[in-house]
Amino acid sequence: WLRNIRVWIKQLSVRKHTSAAKVLAKITPATEVAPAESSNQKPPVQEQGITPRSQDFNAWYLDDYLNIKFKETGHSNMYFPQFIPYSFIEKEASHVEGFSPELALVTVGGGKELEEKLVVRPTSETIVNHMFTQWIQSYRDLPLMINQWANVTRWEMRTKPFIRTLEFLWQEGHTAHATPEEAEREAMQMIDVYTKFSYEQAAIPVIPGRKSRVETFAGADRTYTIEAMMGDRKALQAGTSHNLGQNFSRAFGTQFADENGQRQHVWQTSWAISTRFVGGIIMTHGDDVGLVLPPRLASVQVVIVPIWKKANEKNEVLEAALSVKDILHTAGIKVKLDDSDQRTPGWKFNFWEMKGVPLRIEIGPRDVSSRSVVISRRDIPGKPGKIFGISMESSFLIPYIKEKLDEIQSSLLDKAITFRDSNIVDVNSYDELKEAISQGKWARGPWIGSDEDELKVKEETGATVRCFPFDQPPGPKKCLMTGGPADEVAIFAKSY
Ligand code: AMP
Repeated sequence: WLRNIRVWIKQLSVRKHTSAAKVLAKITPATEVAPAESSNQKPPVQEQGITPRSQDFNAWYLDDYLNIKFKETGHSNMYFPQFIPYSFIEKEASHVEGFSPELALVTVGGGKELEEKLVVRPTSETIVNHMFTQWIQSYRDLPLMINQWANVTRWEMRTKPFIRTLEFLWQEGHTAHATPEEAEREAMQMIDVYTKFSYEQAAIPVIPGRKSRVETFAGADRTYTIEAMMGDRKALQAGTSHNLGQNFSRAFGTQFADENGQRQHVWQTSWAISTRFVGGIIMTHGDDVGLVLPPRLASVQVVIVPIWKKANEKNEVLEAALSVKDILHTAGIKVKLDDSDQRTPGWKFNFWEMKGVPLRIEIGPRDVSSRSVVISRRDIPGKPGKIFGISMESSFLIPYIKEKLDEIQSSLLDKAITFRDSNIVDVNSYDELKEAISQGKWARGPWIGSDEDELKVKEETGATVRCFPFDQPPGPKKCLMTGGPADEVAIFAKSY
């Protein structure tokens, strides 16, 4: 997903270059600029920084993971305007109530007071519905399933880099269906996509579940969430999927004629993951030295640092380093050779460790003569993470590096699961809950408390209901607060 943003930025700059190319065309022979000049369409995937699928299916697939998943599940990418008429926001009562304190408003445009103020989109349900009313006529137009990669603005009072920012990047999915069952299936399907993405790509063992009424999205019937435990044991809501019921379709009049010609309101969902997830990766895996990136999301998976002391060593070391780089690159591994002679090897080690690169390869004169390299794992600091005498031969090196990257990926996940599970306490009374929270842990216990009970917990302990996890222990339970019979356990924690 990180790569997705990178690709996005690259695409923007490619577009910029295209117009620069037009200017260049006037002063350079046409043949040199012809490809850029003629390419109104997307540049070849290589130029977008994506490994073509034909070359390496795995790498290609991972680069664009979420976008691919959205398309596989039937969604198309679209883009909607950033400025939304205030009257749109007002249409859905709980939506405007929930978002009012966070809205950025445009009141002046082109030096003139606007007749109607514009909202800088905090989310796009309203403008999407405005368009859906025009695109949806009959049951044949359903389901309508779209996704937008965009920036949004929420005037947060408390900010924290990546986690809670005034402007953030995200993808937001919006769908319309003929039946409530279909909408529910879609909302669940997308939280499942996020869950898999978290486990398989980011090595973050999130807990998927349903939000409490108090924590449900403004305008939704039900909100599903993935909750992640950060290194400081605070909870992070890492992504959400909402079943919007007919709340927006009723407010906007988004209707379709069913098979009997009856007009009905559509059933809707929306779901999003933001740049907050980047913060989640940093705070799940990072250590005192800096980032620790899961190999599947790392834009550099292997960095090669050549080491030489005397000038006569430089050439042979660099030659060997370059050949190792080529071997790995051809095998679809994202590799960087740091061959600058402006910095010492020690400086480079620290730098790339801080950047979280999963594997480092060191090559010195002695390694050149033994045709081997030294490898260091970012996730195991110091000597224990060093492996000596690894053969440079491609038939050995390629599978070895791939295996190590896989090992790091699963070891990061295992470590995070162990950490998470050793910090969740099962509680059966409010006193036990308070005790767990005061120790900085997550408390999991049976809950049928009221909204007021939930707010009381928040006031007295600082913890909120993170979710009712999908994975529920069997058997009858008694609410930790009221003592009444409870169907479900809830997880309470302090959060970002
Ligand atoms: P929501 O539309 O409120 O459900 O938000 C969707 C997702 O965006 C949440 O699950 C968060 O992961 C993320 N998010 C919400 N607010 C912010 C913010 N201020 N900064 C960064 N990410 C955010």
